[in-house]
Amino acid sequence: MDFSLTEEHLMIRDAARDFAQTELLPGVIERDDKQTFPQELVRKMGELGFMGIMVDPKYGGSGMDTISYVLIMEELSKIDASASVMVSVNNSLVCYGLEAYGTEEQKQKYLTKLATGEQIGAFCLSEPEAGSDATSQATTAIDKGDHYVINGTKNWITNGGRSDVYLVIAQTDREKGHRGINAFIVEKGMPGFDIGPKEDKLGIRGSDTHTLQFNDVKVPKENRIGEDGFGFKFAMKTLSGGRIGIAAQALGIASGAYELALKYSKERKAFGTEICNHQAIAFKLADMYTEIEAARMLVMKAAWQKDKGENYDMASAMAKLYASKVAMEQTVEAVQIHGGNGFVKEYHVERLMRDAKITQIYEGTSEIQKIVISRGVIKG
Ligand SMILES: Cc1cc2nc3c(=O)[nH]c(=O)nc-3n(C[C@H](O)[C@H](O)[C@H](O)COP(=O)(O)OP(=O)(O)OC[C@H]3O[C@@H](n4cnc5c(N)ncnc54)[C@H](O)[C@@H]3O)c2cc1C
Repeated sequence: MDFSLTEEHLMIRDAARDFAQTELLPGVIERDDKQTFPQELVRKMGELGFMGIMVDPKYGGSGMDTISYVLIMEELSKIDASASVMVSVNNSLVCYGLEAYGTEEQKQKYLTKLATGEQIGAFCLSEPEAGSDATSQATTAIDKGDHYVINGTKNWITNGGRSDVYLVIAQTDREKGHRGINAFIVEKGMPGFDIGPKEDKLGIRGSDTHTLQFNDVKVPKENRIGEDGFGFKFAMKTLSGGRIGIAAQALGIASGAYELALKYSKERKAFGTEICNHQAIAFKLADMYTEIEAARMLVMKAAWQKDKGENYDMASAMAKLYASKVAMEQTVEAVQIHGGNGFVKEYHVERLMRDAKITQIYEGTSEIQKIVISRGVIKG
């Protein structure tokens, strides 16, 4: 067993940390306030190889492992979780989905642009009446011979307004239940495909979340991913890897808040001493550090299992469940350590606290992670 990172991993982590400090930190409060994220920053993340971290270089990716992906996600999330969710969706849901299950033609046409950040992708599973219960898809894709016709609504779609490529899950045969679901590649601008207004959110406000409408959208048959009926499995498989990304995001949010709280506690004085010398604060720091390290172990183990080609469904669910709980609890503590200053924007911890909440909701709520884990435990 070896817990150390390689030289290459350390270099990748430092590059992400440097980018986050120099490029993401300036303007992060304003972006949160205005709910924006400039295309220029997306372009820079693409140049650094962050948009196709694990994609084979022959498709324009960086060819790195999942450990590298986790390190990058953690560093970006310490500063700006809106940037990191954009990276996470593009990497683990869109690029991974296409690389693992797409045809060579689909990879050449779409993945090569998505992996470099020239284009951005979105993953469209959730609907107004199908969130946790993703099998209840109301969106339909009717087989018309050489094409499908898609009708329906998708909501809460990350990168929804700014994407070029949308992986859309839809029901093709209701009789077959989840075996009658397919995944399709839909391009922005296809007739009948409309993007609704941006959601006004509690956290990750710089990320771009929209409802999408499909009205008789004609999608060529070659845009279906995998065999007929593979769509639900496709969604579950990609989400399993996606959970490692969101767990790493939660880890980054928690460790970002911890680092700020530690620094503040060594500077702020009360009752004639730095507040870290009060045991109540020191114990908070001890708990934060311990829980963040425990979360890191789970996240790294899930990434390691994926890199080894092992099944990581339970590992990614456990990593997400635990890291998101730590993120939520420890960002609240970071605000507490900051006192009144924790309640205002310039100290950053209130934003991290707001951002933490989403990690317990998307890519499967904590309750859904417990369903995955308990099934695994009981099955043995
Ligand atoms: C900011 C944001 C970005 C998102 N990005 C995307 C995206 O890019 N693509 C996408 O497809 N979706 C996205 N989502 C949707 C997200 O994945 C769903 O919101 C999530 O899966 C929960 O679904 P729901 O909101 O319908 O809640 P519901 O499924 O209605 O759940 C409500 C509550 O009931 C609980 N619950 C439901 N079923 C059970 C059960 N069987 N046992 C115990 N408890 C249960 C849930 O855990 C939750 O607490 C995003 C959501 C948000 C808020």
